[in-house]
Amino acid sequence: MSESEKKANFEETQKQFRDRPPRKIDISVVVPLYNEEQSLMPLSLSIRDALDRMKSTYEVIFVDDGSTDDSIKILREIHRKNRRYKFISFRRNYGKSAALSVGFQQATGRIVVTMDADLQDDPNEIPRMIDKLETGYDLVNGWKKKRHDPISKTIPSKLFNFTTSLLTGIKLKDFNSGLKVYRREVIQDIKVYGEMHRFLPVLAHWAGYKVAEVPVTHHPRKFGKTKFGLSRFWHGMLDLVTVLFTTRYSKRPLHFFGLMGMLTFLAGFIIDLEIVIEKLLGKTSISNRPLFLVGVLLIIVGVQFVSIGLLGEMITRTKTEEEYAVKEKVFN
Ligand code: UDP
Ligand code: MG
Repeated sequence: MSESEKKANFEETQKQFRDRPPRKIDISVVVPLYNEEQSLMPLSLSIRDALDRMKSTYEVIFVDDGSTDDSIKILREIHRKNRRYKFISFRRNYGKSAALSVGFQQATGRIVVTMDADLQDDPNEIPRMIDKLETGYDLVNGWKKKRHDPISKTIPSKLFNFTTSLLTGIKLKDFNSGLKVYRREVIQDIKVYGEMHRFLPVLAHWAGYKVAEVPVTHHPRKFGKTKFGLSRFWHGMLDLVTVLFTTRYSKRPLHFFGLMGMLTFLAGFIIDLEIVIEKLLGKTSISNRPLFLVGVLLIIVGVQFVSIGLLGEMITRTKTEEEYAVKEKVFN
């Protein structure tokens, strides 16, 4: 073959390669991480071992949430060895929800798996969870039935799960589990912001998706330390209020505040009307009826509630989008 033929041949191959439609990926594994340098290499190996057995195509997307240790170096090395492993690295720490949200945007698989990077979640559970998904669910949640965490974490967590289940009416044991399997549509539909990662099953359920839960094995943390202190409990509870409000009333805040406001206003109005009538009939003098002030207070609070509802209505008409500063993105 002459040089020019070789060149033409090469160009033809290149062209075919370019024109070929991108290969469809079956499973995207999204792993949010923050300062987990020691766990990353063993994690990537155990994901590979678990998924290679499944004979499905897969990609692993690490989202480095602004780590300050050597996590990024390890991620570069993992990517160099195997292109299935991609990563995106934030310039600063935005929190697990932000990391998941960006991971979701980049995931191309038909099925999207999320798991923690600290080796506490076991990738060997993924095939079983996918099997469950295929029986007709949209989200399968991993329930850490036998949990290997300190008691300072397990007890607040039990309380959190109990309250969330009670108030949302969704029968799950472990809302905040890192190990979850989603159908692609679910993650495209629901928005993860703030610290809403704790409520993904709630948001999915309210969006009309079918949610199931299976018990999974859980391991103690081997390297590094937990990123969430006791504050997780308060944050979680406050976020529960937000979720309840936003899932039911975000599109119609006046229905929530307006009802409260009108009831309060009405109570104050009736109390004061009664006192004014008594005064007009000469039965009492307003100055020795402290209840009159309570009535005034209720009227003012009532007006305030209605005003908040109206403000809410105005805010729902303007949409705000969060933005993340990306330090590095490796996706080739
Ligand atoms: N994580 C993160 N950003 C943060 C905090 C945590 O991406 O700001 C990651 C962390 O690296 C881990 C997962 O979220 O992969 C769960 O965190 P952790 O193990 O500390 O939570 P716990 O198991 O104690 O609930
Ligand atoms: Mg952990």
